Amino acid sequence: MPIQYIDELNIENARVFIRCDFNVPLKDGHITNDLRIKASIPTIEYAQSKNAKVILASHLGRPKGKIDKTLSLEPIAERLLIYLKREVFFSNDCQAYGNLKLIEQMRPQDVLLFENLRFHPGETNNSHHFALQLSKYADVYVNDAFGAAHRAHASVEALPKLFSEKGGGLLLKKEIQALTALIENRTPPYVVVLGGGKVSDKVSLLRQIIDVADTLLLGGAMAYPFLKAQGFEVGNSKLEEEAVDIAHDLLQEAKKKKIQIILPRDHWVAKRCDVDAEVEKTPSPAIPKGWMGLDIGPKTILQYAQILEKAKTIFWNGPMGIFEVAPFEQGTFAIAEAIANNNGYTVVGGGDSVAAVYKYQLQLKFSHVSTGGGASLEFLQGTPLPGILALEG
Ligand code: ADP
Ligand code: MG
Repeated sequence: MPIQYIDELNIENARVFIRCDFNVPLKDGHITNDLRIKASIPTIEYAQSKNAKVILASHLGRPKGKIDKTLSLEPIAERLLIYLKREVFFSNDCQAYGNLKLIEQMRPQDVLLFENLRFHPGETNNSHHFALQLSKYADVYVNDAFGAAHRAHASVEALPKLFSEKGGGLLLKKEIQALTALIENRTPPYVVVLGGGKVSDKVSLLRQIIDVADTLLLGGAMAYPFLKAQGFEVGNSKLEEEAVDIAHDLLQEAKKKKIQIILPRDHWVAKRCDVDAEVEKTPSPAIPKGWMGLDIGPKTILQYAQILEKAKTIFWNGPMGIFEVAPFEQGTFAIAEAIANNNGYTVVGGGDSVAAVYKYQLQLKFSHVSTGGGASLEFLQGTPLPGILALEG
C-alpha cells in the first residue's frame, strides 16, 4: 500500500509523535544552519491546526548511546520557539517516567520536544523495547525526518511498526515528490554533477546515474580515481585506490551507453590545504608529484558552466573542491552559481553541498534543496529506505 501523509491521517485532538530531523550543524553550541528546523515547521503547524498534542523527537550527531551535553537538543527547542511563536516543552529524557504525565497535562496545540534520542543505545540498535516505550506517548506516528529515512533506527523503523495510524510528514512528502520527479519526469539533457569526498559511498549512485543521465560532470575528490584510471598522475590528491578499478569499469560502461563522463581538465593545487599555502594552477588534467588537487581549475569551470547552461534537468551532490578553505572555493561557487542560474529543474542534495549553496545564498534559486544527504542519494539510487518502508501497509 502506498504511504499516507499527515494530511490524510486522522489526527484531530490526537497525541501525534513526529520524528523530525533536527540533526543540524553546530559550532560551539550554536546552530550554524537551521534549514532542517525551518523545513519541519509546516508539519508541526499542520498538526497544531488539527488541535493535536505534538510530540517531537530527533537525533543529533553521534553520541553513541550516552549523554553528551554538547549534542543536546535544547538549542533546537529555543529555535522552534522562534518559528512556532509559542513555548516548547522540553523533556530531558525520552524514556523518563514523568513523560506520560506531562503529555496528559499538555493542551491541544502544545508542543513537547524530547532530548536527543541517541542518548539511548536503543535508538541506533533499532530496539523494540525502546520503541515500545516511545509508542506509549502517542496515538499517531508521523515521520518527517527525510534525512534519517535511510537508517533502520528505532524511531524510524521499529516504532512506526507499532502504530496502525501512521504516515509521512509534509517535508517527507515534498522530498519524495521532488526526488521522484528526477527519476520519473526529467527533461533531457539531464546533467549530474558529482563531487565531494566520500567516493566509495557514492560509487553505487554512479552506476545508476550512467543509466539515466546524459552527462556526468565530476569534481572534488570524486574526479581523481577517474583521472588515475585514464593514466594521469594525481600526485598527493585524496585517492581511494579501490575506487580506481571501479572508475575504470564505469568509464567503459559509460562509453558503451554513450553517456559522457567529463573530468576536470585543470586544477588548483597546493602542497598542503591551508589558507596561506602556495597555490598553483595546472595546465592539464595531471597533478604533479608532491602536489594535491584541491579545486577544479578555470578551464574546467568554463566548460562545466557551458554544459550546465544547456541542461534542462540538473542534480548536484558534492563540492568541487575544499570550499571550506577560501583559496579552494572558486569551483564550488561557480558551479553553484551556474546551476542556480539554470531555469530548468535543479536539485541539490548532500550536507556539505547544501551548506555551500547557503554560504553563497543561492538556495532560493534551486527548484529543490534536499534536507537529506545520504538519504537523497540512496533514494535516487533506487534503494528502498527503511523509514519509508515502515510507513507502508
Ligand atoms: P556532501 O556532504 O555534499 O554529500 P561529501 O560529504 O561527499 O559531500 O564531501 C564534502 C567534502 O569533500 C567537503 O568537506 C570538501 O572539503 C571535500 N572535498 C572536496 N573536494 C576535495 C578534494 N579535491 N580533496 C579532498 N577533499 C575534497
Ligand atoms: Mg558530507
